[in-house]
Amino acid sequence: MAMKLMSKRGHTAIHEAGHVVAFCHFSNGIYAAHLAGADGAIVDRDGCTVHCLGLVEPRTSFDEATLRKDRDAAVYDAGIRNMVCSLAGPYAEARHRKISADAVALSYGTDDFNGADEIATHIEPDPKRCEHLHQRVERIVRKFLREPEVWCQIQAVADVLFRDGRIGGDHILLPRIDRRRDLDP
Ligand SMILES: [Zn+2]
Repeated sequence: MAMKLMSKRGHTAIHEAGHVVAFCHFSNGIYAAHLAGADGAIVDRDGCTVHCLGLVEPRTSFDEATLRKDRDAAVYDAGIRNMVCSLAGPYAEARHRKISADAVALSYGTDDFNGADEIATHIEPDPKRCEHLHQRVERIVRKFLREPEVWCQIQAVADVLFRDGRIGGDHILLPRIDRRRDLDP
């Protein structure tokens, strides 16, 4: 792999690429993803300046057809998919840097883990079931990142992010994904 991805900016590129590729497989893709420039700022699609190292702007996670039929099922499904996409970033970074996901959780991945926790407690208020949900999501994410094709896609997206600081959702050369993945195939 290119040495540049071993730098701090490279770690961020892999992290954001992990989110991007997960959104493309498990959800409805992204509008864009960004890495901050030297000024530490990112301008999002609403024209707002955000101060952070990296940012992914996902499309909605809801499945419109399910949403019309069964609102609760659609919320539950979108919740799990968002948890998977949240954790794919820090887990990709951990895999790339050969460190534990816990180590990433304590640094750049804190918001991702907090976000996943928030969703989990919302859709599974029962503590025991909530714990099982966390384990299920972790299993899905780890299995996903072990797929050689997925890891290649993450590296390819990270390369573009590193070089250009931005990747548009329509320009991602992922194989056309006609249908979102099942969560537990
Ligand atoms: Zn993240």
